[in-house]
Amino acid sequence: MADQTNLLYKIQKAKELVHNAKRVFVLTGAGISAESGVPTFRDAAGHWKNINPEQVATRQAFDRDPKFVWEWYDSRRLQLQDIKPNPAHYSLAKLEQQKDAFYLLTQNVEDLHEQAGSKRVGHIHGSIWELKCTQEGTVRHDRTAPMEDLPPRCKICGALERPNVVWFGERIREDVIAETERFLSQGEMDVVMVIGTGAIFDYIPEWANRARGARGTLIEINPSETELYGVDIALRGNAGEILPALVEPQ
Ligand code: NAD
Repeated sequence: MADQTNLLYKIQKAKELVHNAKRVFVLTGAGISAESGVPTFRDAAGHWKNINPEQVATRQAFDRDPKFVWEWYDSRRLQLQDIKPNPAHYSLAKLEQQKDAFYLLTQNVEDLHEQAGSKRVGHIHGSIWELKCTQEGTVRHDRTAPMEDLPPRCKICGALERPNVVWFGERIREDVIAETERFLSQGEMDVVMVIGTGAIFDYIPEWANRARGARGTLIEINPSETELYGVDIALRGNAGEILPALVEPQ
């Protein structure tokens, strides 16, 4: 009971800050899509033939057996095809419209933020709906699932295509880093929100804290403790319940 009262108090405080903020930076992870039915990274381990994503989401695995890696991605694409955004995605899209400056950096490879109406979104780990030619680097959008022929090949040069996602051991997307840096260089944030991520990659807590700067507020929304440090307000609950409460009119 005391915990619940404390959470409601913290939500009210965060709501005022979010409402008054002019500049907002948001980082999201797999947890924001959990209530849409997308397994988080940990839940995903073992969901398909008991395979750990770390064993298939690598360049080495692809070079060894591209068909096998593509079968795994095909199963994920199939699983994602009919999934819909949840209230957390819609709340962020609404928030973007209310702010002078807003940027949403997601680690997710699906497009539930865009489906909900978010426009200023960067996918730091790429997109599962994009295919990239391993020879020429050309990228094409393709939402077919299941795919007809695995592994897919480039329509122009015939080389293998790979999912345009960042695999373990690869560098995160340079274009999205540049976009994020451009946004952060334009001024300090009033509010930074980190939602549904374990924050295991160093760049998540680093970006969040740098963006918050000396005078902003760092808000975390996650039912569990994470690796994020420097948090000013930790809202321990589900994003689909907490975000609408933060964004709805005062
Ligand atoms: P993660 O699985 O490591 O962590 C998920 C986090 O979400 C956990 O901290 C968990 O407590 C929290 N969470 C669970 N349910 C929640 C809810 N309802 N509301 C708020 N938070 C909730 O995921 P990660 O930190 O994003 O990093 C893992 C990697 O896996 C990333 O590289 C990501 O690209 C990839 N991934 C992406 C998707 C996707 O695109 N939807 C899904 C699985 C994994």
